[in-house]
Amino acid sequence: MKIAVIGSGYVGLTTSACFAEMGNTVISVDKDENKIEMLQAGKVPIYEPGLEDMILRNMTAKRLNFTLDTKQAVQDSQIIFIAVGTPPGEDGSADLQYVIAAAEEIASYLNEPKIIVNKSTVPVGTADLVNEKIQEVLNARGVDINYAVVSNPEFLKEGSAIDDFMSPDRVVIGTDNPKAGEIMRTLYEPFCRTNDRILIMGIRSAEMAKYAANSFLATKISFINEISRLCDAYDADIAEVRNGMCSDSRIGYKFIFPGVGYGGSCFPKDIKALINMSRKVGYEPRILTAVEEVNSEQKKVLVEKVKAHFGKNLKGKTFAVWGLAFKPQTDDMREAPSVVIINELIAMGATVKAYDPVAMQEAKKVFGNNNSVTLCADEYETLKDAVAMLLITEWHQFRYPDFERMSKIMQQKVIFDGRNQYNPKAVKEMGFTYYGIGRR
Ligand code: NAD
Repeated sequence: MKIAVIGSGYVGLTTSACFAEMGNTVISVDKDENKIEMLQAGKVPIYEPGLEDMILRNMTAKRLNFTLDTKQAVQDSQIIFIAVGTPPGEDGSADLQYVIAAAEEIASYLNEPKIIVNKSTVPVGTADLVNEKIQEVLNARGVDINYAVVSNPEFLKEGSAIDDFMSPDRVVIGTDNPKAGEIMRTLYEPFCRTNDRILIMGIRSAEMAKYAANSFLATKISFINEISRLCDAYDADIAEVRNGMCSDSRIGYKFIFPGVGYGGSCFPKDIKALINMSRKVGYEPRILTAVEEVNSEQKKVLVEKVKAHFGKNLKGKTFAVWGLAFKPQTDDMREAPSVVIINELIAMGATVKAYDPVAMQEAKKVFGNNNSVTLCADEYETLKDAVAMLLITEWHQFRYPDFERMSKIMQQKVIFDGRNQYNPKAVKEMGFTYYGIGRR
């Protein structure tokens, strides 16, 4: 099939590459000239495992192109995906300006019947707004062209986006147009050969399913984080509690890990958007509100432990921070706990030396002008003069570091393990003072 994808970010690029990989012809569009220039030159502006190889392979095979020209992309395609950002507005609602602008542009170039698919995460009812906008533009143009608006929320995870897209747990397609539904099924069938999980449903259900899924996942994280606070207070061990709890087959072990709170471009904004949607219909969402509150506090838990150890005044003290991305295998620092933690340390007078295996470019954008933060070339360089190391993102290379080497470099041997990666007994035996999350 011939496909256009509007927006070449994490979702747009993965979608474009994976559809091309399955033999479709894909044109990926963005407004950002820099991004498109890089992509046309075969350089991928984000870090996502496997993405660059897949993009290059499909560019060489002439199945994948990048352009600034929305008109050409729209007119050359049968299916047009909208994969632009939906950042949080001031009141927490999803800001739909980019989605509506994309719909407006598509409508102004629509030349024959096409399917317009919304892949961005959008509040329930957005397909109606997109529909209205397209109709308004077509009316103004004085043309009558058939089109279908479909909702196809994306469930990929940054860091494993390619695998998630190529072998999805499910594909949700919201449409009230049976023909469009069948075309979408045909498009996705190659991805679901061994696992037929193409779920066709009402548009509003599809839009809600995305928020419900992300909110539930965020709830799992805040739940275990709340229990970890109680473990700290009652001298229980969250690792043991987690085993005792998750071995129940009704609960399971997946996605229930204590830490320094969730971040990223999705959970925080999607929870806020669902809270906003609830309040709009007069329902006070108590669970969602609590999930968000617990998470905001959790981002500061490690700082509380630092304060308890070193006192409130951190002037003259240097802290090493390992990991800046909101999770491993991505360079995404949007809403990352690392930013909150570093800013809190600085506010108490500390200086910070930080390192992340792939997020250093992003880190420069966030901390480049901050004299209290030094971005280092590797994790061991951060330890020079450090009174403590804070592990924030559990990259593989941080999971079993050279503790002996660390001992020799650090000014004081203190570890604040924000992801419970180290064996407390073992690191204590090596002479470190150890603080984890909810661990005895
Ligand atoms: P992103 O910010 O990485 O990329 C969005 C891109 O759209 C940008 O490059 C921007 O320049 C471009 N853009 C905006 N308006 C445009 C227009 N009119 N024409 C062409 N390009 C335009 O965003 P993302 O992380 O890929 O997220 C996109 C959507 O997918 C969001 O709604 C998000 O919630 C959702 N989503 C994201 C993830 C994720 O892990 N990042 C997962 C599932 C769903």
